Amino acid sequence: PVEAAPEWLSHLNPPQREAVMTTQGPVLMLAGAGTGKTAALTHRLAHIVRERLAWPSEILCVTFTNKAAREMRERVGKLTGGALEGMPWLGTFHSIGAKMLRRHAELVGLQSNFTIIDTDDQLRLLKQLIRDAELDEKRWPPRQLAGLLDRWKNRGLNPEDLDAVENEAYANGRGQEFYRKYQDRLKALNACDFGDLLLHVLNILRREPDILKQYQQRFKYVLVDEYQDTNAVQYLWLRLIAQERKNICVVGDDDQSIYSWRGAEVANILRFEKDFPGAAVIKLEQNYRSTPQILAAASGLIAANSERLGKTLWTEMPEGTKVRVIGVWDAPEEARRVGEEIERLEREGAPLEQVAILVRAQYQTREFEDRFIQIGLNYRIVGGFRFYERAEIRDALAYLRVVAQPADDLAFERIYNTPKRGLGAKTLEKMHQHARRTDQPLAAAALELADSDELPARARNTIAGLMQGFLHWREQAEKVTPSELLRIVLEESGYNAMLSADRSAESAGRADNLVELARAMEEYETLGDFLEHVSLVMDNDRDGGGEKVTIMTMHAAKGLEFDHVFLPGWEEGVFPSQRALDEGGLASLEEERRLAYVAITRARRRCTILHAANRRIYGQWTSSIPSRFVEELPDEHVESETTMTGGRSLWQANWSESEDPFAHVVQNRPERSQARGPGWQRALATGYDTKQVRVRENTRSAASFAAKPRSDLPLGSRVFHDKFGYGTVMGQEGNKLEIEFEKAGTKRVIDSFVKAAD
Ligand code: ATP
Ligand code: MG
Repeated sequence: PVEAAPEWLSHLNPPQREAVMTTQGPVLMLAGAGTGKTAALTHRLAHIVRERLAWPSEILCVTFTNKAAREMRERVGKLTGGALEGMPWLGTFHSIGAKMLRRHAELVGLQSNFTIIDTDDQLRLLKQLIRDAELDEKRWPPRQLAGLLDRWKNRGLNPEDLDAVENEAYANGRGQEFYRKYQDRLKALNACDFGDLLLHVLNILRREPDILKQYQQRFKYVLVDEYQDTNAVQYLWLRLIAQERKNICVVGDDDQSIYSWRGAEVANILRFEKDFPGAAVIKLEQNYRSTPQILAAASGLIAANSERLGKTLWTEMPEGTKVRVIGVWDAPEEARRVGEEIERLEREGAPLEQVAILVRAQYQTREFEDRFIQIGLNYRIVGGFRFYERAEIRDALAYLRVVAQPADDLAFERIYNTPKRGLGAKTLEKMHQHARRTDQPLAAAALELADSDELPARARNTIAGLMQGFLHWREQAEKVTPSELLRIVLEESGYNAMLSADRSAESAGRADNLVELARAMEEYETLGDFLEHVSLVMDNDRDGGGEKVTIMTMHAAKGLEFDHVFLPGWEEGVFPSQRALDEGGLASLEEERRLAYVAITRARRRCTILHAANRRIYGQWTSSIPSRFVEELPDEHVESETTMTGGRSLWQANWSESEDPFAHVVQNRPERSQARGPGWQRALATGYDTKQVRVRENTRSAASFAAKPRSDLPLGSRVFHDKFGYGTVMGQEGNKLEIEFEKAGTKRVIDSFVKAAD
């Protein structure tokens, strides 16, 4: 029996109040989107503090993101009258895990100042181990091992816990051996990875009864939001900690489980009632977020899933408008259309903060960013980088910038060793030194170094090869379209190979982003025009405050809400994603459908879904089929609309590059290079060939490109060189000197590297 609820809880509904007031014993709150689960959890926390049932430091409260933790802290502060001085144990599983681990690091062989390594470090470490074992890293890539380690750790498995099948998953039965070696290495480095933040803590709680007892005593209350996305190791440590007092309240929605690819197990919901018998199960059915139309559309869609607990949702919100489904011609029209709709909302007085565009994959943001910049609509990308800021996009742009503008030192520095070519910091320093002394661009300096003995033979060859590449690409740039040039550069520079050797989930996203970049370039006649566009876009990124439209992935939008939500790209292969379709399993399709449910239920007032009839993939138009999720939306809650304002004939739109009636122009484009803009002409003019650096136009680099020999070092003069020591000038060719060194023998060096010895 719940005691009468105090006044400050009166705006909550009865089951919510029950969730707040049932502080003793386990509570499972299971309810659909927007029913006020997070709100109830927040009030529960505030209630515990207000009633002094526990000090803030005696409450463990887990949120799914750091942002959610900040928001909860703020709200609880307000609800308790700001009396809350900190909640040390409010955060994500990882942040809480890190905090616990620092206190007991020595128990797992670490010191309390251990470092948490990132994925890059992890891969480097694994690579080392694989090499030391003389395994073929192509056959057994570090990424694969990293993925397995992650999976094992998410399931709470230590090396000794692996069974035969798991052990077999890497290098013919050496999974366990590598797992063990990796953990030993980490220990030696006083480091741990993200998975360890959870696993080490679980191990400590399991092996040290005293410490477990301590935490069981300390945490009088445990609260967990987004419970459906916990994984096994998280569940296991929650269970240990809460097992004593059993005051644990978990909150979730099985229909919103969208992280199984990160080891989340929705079965944890079912387990909870078994492990905490007698748990109060609270169902919330009233939705406070969305209109009946939106709610009915989302409920109709999720009903197609077979694996669900099932639930009813209702709302008292005004009827609202039906979910709109708009079919457009292609992606640019999709972005144009969304832009127009948002401008209209703005005119009607809707704050931009209440507008969101939720995409399935990161690459989809590009089209919107470009369009919004064009029409001057402020936007922010949440939970990711803006398209042109992503590492792989910056890399690709850096290559193109060096092709267009050999004097672009920043760009050159970014990619001279990406992908890894074995050119280290020493080489870079040498290049800088030489560029400074001779007042020429880095690339030109590198080229000169490659033709001297200043660098070891290997570095020289590598640099020469790279510069040869740039020469070739510069030639290609005159012959092919900008997007074709990008494809050539990515292929020939080894960038594509680097990505495909990388088997992580992110690497697929990176490849998609690069395809999207090529697609963006297709709209531009010349490389110069495109790069100019990019610099404008990048500049716009620096704008300050003001209201902004939010662009983010559906995954990142979990738990959030907006008045107006746009969901573009609802086509087979985009959403559901191609990967989900390729895997073909029911489970992956159902997870995509849950994601669709999460996406639609973010909307409070209006939800607009879009799909394009055509997408351009690798320069080829392909027609796309609307997502099956569009079909699955109940008709009576949907209003469909098809616009084909693109103004193109089907014939034009459907040609592929080879059938392009202007193909001959593409292949052999002298006319086109005439037609290119001034940026391009400039780019061509600053080109140089590999051997003889030649000036073609008056730019910053012009004066220095032609190497002037030094007049103060005539034949026979004695000189000193930092690396080779003393010697005598025996010959001179341009700025290169042939010097017979007393110790190092005869070398070709660049004159700016030597000084007169007397
Ligand atoms: P999700 O499943 O998306 O995480 P949720 O169940 O956590 O949703 P909340 O975000 O807590 O739902 O609440 C949804 C909206 O409903 C919020 O704007 C919240 O302020 C509001 N709300 C929650 N409870 C009530 C209530 N009793 N009366 C009025 N509004 C409420
Ligand atoms: Mg919530």
